[in-house]
Amino acid sequence: MDRLSDISTVKSILARHGFQFSKALGQNFLINPSVCPRMAEQCGADSQTGVLEIGPGIGVLTRELASRAGKVVAVELDQRLLPVLEETLAQYPNAEIVHGDVMKLDLHRLLAEKFSGMNVVVCANLPYYITSPVIMRLLEEKLPVKAVTVMVQKEAADRLCALPGTRACGAVSIAVQYYAEPEILFQVSRGSFLPPPNVDSTVIRLNIRETPSVEVVDENSFFRVVRAAFGQRRKTLGNSLSSGLGVPKERLGNAMETVGIASNMRAEQLSMEQFACLANELKRAGI
Ligand code: SAM
Repeated sequence: MDRLSDISTVKSILARHGFQFSKALGQNFLINPSVCPRMAEQCGADSQTGVLEIGPGIGVLTRELASRAGKVVAVELDQRLLPVLEETLAQYPNAEIVHGDVMKLDLHRLLAEKFSGMNVVVCANLPYYITSPVIMRLLEEKLPVKAVTVMVQKEAADRLCALPGTRACGAVSIAVQYYAEPEILFQVSRGSFLPPPNVDSTVIRLNIRETPSVEVVDENSFFRVVRAAFGQRRKTLGNSLSSGLGVPKERLGNAMETVGIASNMRAEQLSMEQFACLANELKRAGI
């Protein structure tokens, strides 16, 4: 069988199908033979598990997943890849391609229909133009998945996995920490792709928590406060919250004092617990 990580094989399959890479769809295909087996190994795929893949490309990771998992369902947006995948996955009856946009499909329904009674994990080399929206969608919709193992740009990985209270922490890091325990698995150089992107990549795994890491009265208010807090990173917390939430500083000051958070702190200095207390107090105060 053809090795899909072999550059001349990839080029000849793509040429045969008259395929041209689309930059807009984030098409950088893996040609480093060690990456897909490692991802498939570390994502938790076994014979009892169903894997949702996003953006299979020509199926290089899909094959590795299908040889370990009970079933793989891969969502691909680019219609031109469907005949390619039909060919490259012909010998993998447990791999199914769904043509669609991962941002628009009803994922709850898809998982219920395709993986009834199975544990589910997500594994993907994500198209970089939608890294954060896809990850946020997977987390916020509370899909019944155990873990999300994805390759993303190195800078995105550092942000997604940053700990609260550290400089790299942003609103997306707090959201990840709320729903999951993030882990950096390994680095992948830009030369591992065809065509090579301008950045290096990192594979991360988000181990989904059974219950969120902190208790909040109202999730929407919590995330509104988090977004406002990080909205203007150069400003103090008091100023960012005031402009982000549209509330006078004095009103915020009282609530912040009640939970022992100084208004001259910066968002990246707060712990998860402090964010939760602050959001709960602001909610209580009707802000
Ligand atoms: N998994 C392949 C690999 O590792 O070689 C391809 C990864 S490539 C970085 C991203 C893939 O996602 C491409 O196949 C692209 O067509 C697909 N894609 C882009 N946007 C998508 C979307 N909104 N929904 C589903 N697939 C998408």
